[in-house]
Order: sequence, then structure tokens, then C-alpha cells
Amino acid sequence: MIPPRRIAILGSTGSIGQNTLNVIRAFPGQFKVTALAAGNNVEEFKRQVDEWRPDWVCLAEKSSVEKILPALPSSVKALAGEQGMIEIVQRKEVDLVVFATTGTWGVAPLLAAIQAKKQVALANKESLVMAGRIVTDAARENGVKIIPIDSEHSAIFQILNGQDPKELHRIFLTCSGGPLLHVAKEQLKEVTLEQALKHPRWKMGRKITIDSSTLMNKGLEIIEAKWLFGVTPDQVQVVIHPEAVVHSMVEYRDGSFMAQMGVTDMKGPIQYALGYPHRLPAVTERLNLVEVGKLSFSLPDVDRFPCLRIAYQAARGGDSDATVMNGANDTAVEAFLEEKIRWNEIPELIETVLSRHQKCENPGLARILELDRWAREETTRLIGQRSKAWVS
Ligand code: MG
Repeated sequence: MIPPRRIAILGSTGSIGQNTLNVIRAFPGQFKVTALAAGNNVEEFKRQVDEWRPDWVCLAEKSSVEKILPALPSSVKALAGEQGMIEIVQRKEVDLVVFATTGTWGVAPLLAAIQAKKQVALANKESLVMAGRIVTDAARENGVKIIPIDSEHSAIFQILNGQDPKELHRIFLTCSGGPLLHVAKEQLKEVTLEQALKHPRWKMGRKITIDSSTLMNKGLEIIEAKWLFGVTPDQVQVVIHPEAVVHSMVEYRDGSFMAQMGVTDMKGPIQYALGYPHRLPAVTERLNLVEVGKLSFSLPDVDRFPCLRIAYQAARGGDSDATVMNGANDTAVEAFLEEKIRWNEIPELIETVLSRHQKCENPGLARILELDRWAREETTRLIGQRSKAWVS
């Protein structure tokens, strides 16, 4: 009998984390949940620990860990913060680490997992946007394959499997268009939080749903593709595909296209990453193409969705542009979620912060974290000065 694959999930209470556990539940005996780490959703985390009995647990704050300690069996080791996550990913009892954290939490644990030569399943695109060069360099040096969980990148990874990447001509990143696809430019100023949170196709966390509404999610994915597949930003074309059946496409140099299709369910890419290099029996519904009937494709409107233009520029620019764009976006989205700024102020803020940053090539981790902190502080400062001239 094959021993179960031992898994650590960082970000277990979020949407990807919960879906990872749903996939694991469908394959009893094939996986062992060795470690769980989460942010501050203590109630859900307690329930998960009760069900999965991991050997290590970790929460973002020490005070949250103290809340769960009394209920834990004495065999469980409880840790806190980023240092706790780093300790977990280095354990010899862990074979595969699922990075399902949101935002920029987790670049250091990702590097630690790669240096410890663990297999990595990556759902957190921000870490590649922020630190793509050092993460992919480390992966190459350590012979570690990063298996993407983002549906588009999972699609491209699956398409490229066994092909020579040098024969790739272009990547088509498909985009459902998000909840505001048909809203006129003038009305975009009045978009409410509720409207922006209503994604037509994918069920996801709040941050990524807002990123989908501004198309910054696709922008982050261009940079993610640049690092994962070694392409230039100009080799990545975003296409609006409202049916969300084609999860992405590759055009080879001979003009041949290959697409990966499936139902719109994140359990698909998660199950591929957990089973890689094998394919497990489907835990999702099966795709019925006859029922879908027709697939349509069109170009995105960068005039109504300036985040896409900003992201292309950042992708073509230096490494620090992507880091700063990501930090500014994270902070602006958070402010929108707290209804402190309007939806159309998100790109305005990002662009202003980007224009003010001190460019830097090949930054190391310490410099990256510094740039990220600066971008967040600058964005927060600008939000505090909203009545002033930076925004009309
Ligand atoms: Mg995606």
C-alpha cells in the first residue's frame, strides 16, 4: 500500500483551504493532514483541528493560539505567526505544502518550503507578484516544481506538461469578466460593495472577488504567468470568456491552440495539484459542453478597467513595480471592503503610489518587504488625505 501523502495547509480556513480539505475528504487514506495554519478565524480553525487531528497547528496571533490551547490534545504542537509557518513547512513529516493564504502573508514560508525541497501547491498569487524572481530562482536551484492552484495557471501548467516551453508562442488567460463586465463607465463610479462582491461564475474569498471586479485579478495573473512560465508580458493575452469553461489556452509556434476546460469549481485545480503527477477521479461535477452550447471570447476594455493597463505596465517594468502595485492594491481593496473609498479610486490610488516609488532591480527579500510596507503606508496615507488634490 502507498503511504498517504502528508500535507500542510497554510490558510486552511479561507475558501481555497476549505476546498482543499473537501478534496482530501473525498480520498480517505490517500492523504494525511499533518499541519494546519490559519489567520484569525479561530472558530472554524477549532472545528478543523477537531476533524483532522493535525500534529501541528499555527495561528497568526499568539492570543488566538492561547484560545485554542485548552481544547488541544497534548500531542499537538501549537505555533504562532510567520515563524510558526516556517517551522511547519520545514518538518520532515510534511511532503506537500498548500499555500492558500490570502494577500501577501506567506512569502517567507514559501521560500522556506522551497529551500526545504517540499512540493509546493500555490494558490497565493500575491507572493509571486511580490517576489516572483526570488521565488522562481529558489525553485529552480532546489529542483522544486511549483504546482499552481490558480485555475488559469493550473490550466497552462496542464497544457504545457511534457511540451517544450520554447515552442510556446502565446498564452491566452481567460477572464469571466467579473461582476461589472457590462456596467457603463459613468456608472462605475457608483458601484457599491455589494455589486462588486457578486461574482457571476466563481465562488471565492472577498479580496479576490473585488480584484475580479477591477480586473486586477487578471493583472496579477499576467505577472504570475510571467514568473511561472518564463514568458514576457506581451506573450500573455487576456480574453473575456463569460462562460468560464476554457480555463486558459496556449498557442504554440506552429499556430496550434490547446485549451484546458472544465466546470468552474476550484476543487478541480486543487485536486490536480494534490494528485500531481497523477490524475485522481473527479470530485467536481462533470462538464457538459452540450449544455453550455456555445463559448464566446472578446477583448477586455482597459478604458473601463484601468487596473489591467496598470498591471501590464508593472509587468513590463522593473521588479519593484509589481511589488509596489501589489501592496497598494491590497491596501486599496481593503479600504474599499471597509467602504472607506469608492471602487474607481482603487486604480487611482495604485497609479499614484506607483508613480512615487523608488524603483529598484533584483530586490532581495528584505528590500521586497520594505517596498511592500512602504506601498501600504503610502496608500493608507493617501486614503487619509482623500479630500486633497490627488483625487478629483
Ligand atoms: Mg484565477
